[in-house]
Amino acid sequence: MKTFAVIGLGRFGSAIALELSALGHEVMAVDINEDKVQQVADKVTHAVTADARKLEVLQALGLRNFDCAVVAMGGDVGNSALVTLNLKELGIPKVVCKAQSHVHRKVLEKIGADRVIFPEYEMGQKVAQGLSSSNVLNFIEFSEDYGIVELAVPQSWQGKTLRELDVRNAYHVTIIALRGGEGGTLNVSPRADVPMREGDNVVALGRSEDINRISEVD
Ligand code: ATP
Repeated sequence: MKTFAVIGLGRFGSAIALELSALGHEVMAVDINEDKVQQVADKVTHAVTADARKLEVLQALGLRNFDCAVVAMGGDVGNSALVTLNLKELGIPKVVCKAQSHVHRKVLEKIGADRVIFPEYEMGQKVAQGLSSSNVLNFIEFSEDYGIVELAVPQSWQGKTLRELDVRNAYHVTIIALRGGEGGTLNVSPRADVPMREGDNVVALGRSEDINRISEVD
């Protein structure tokens, strides 16, 4: 179990707070708006109405001892930057922030956010990846250059092993897992001599252009 503080209980923050709580973590949910706090109060460990822009408020809440804080106030760049700065000053090891634009993302990264999420942009990319190929089931971008994709095994790969396909040399990606059909078991770091079947999924790690290439295989 870890300790999380979630600051800002809009759609994004409340979803994070409720999910972390459901996963068994200790969650302190903070919002300046009493109604927002009440909406999650009985589902999280602590729910507090407070103005998170004030360093003394963050100190009084004991946030310095938390493992991770999520700044989910996207609406006002200045406020979210101020809260992020104060949380890093307190020494919280991991501060995750929501951005509402590329400039906002840059500001948060510059002042020390450990991870910046731009939900609308990232979700748009995922949807585009999914739409561009009927095989793509999931896509995670690591950086501008690298990502992980989960694909339905292309027809031309069915019945063949990773060794036969020589995937690493032919496509310059690493297959990090195979999933046996929908909802099936995940075989992490699969052996090269396991044949892939119709209905299986492959999870591949690689450069974005190489991932795009295997996403197009029929
Ligand atoms: P959503 O997650 O719904 O997209 P958003 O990114 O548009 O939200 P806002 O609606 O601006 O962001 O803020 C999210 C929440 O943060 C709101 O519930 C708001 O009351 C809360 N909030 C704003 N300022 C503060 C503050 N100074 N201290 C604590 N909470 C705040």
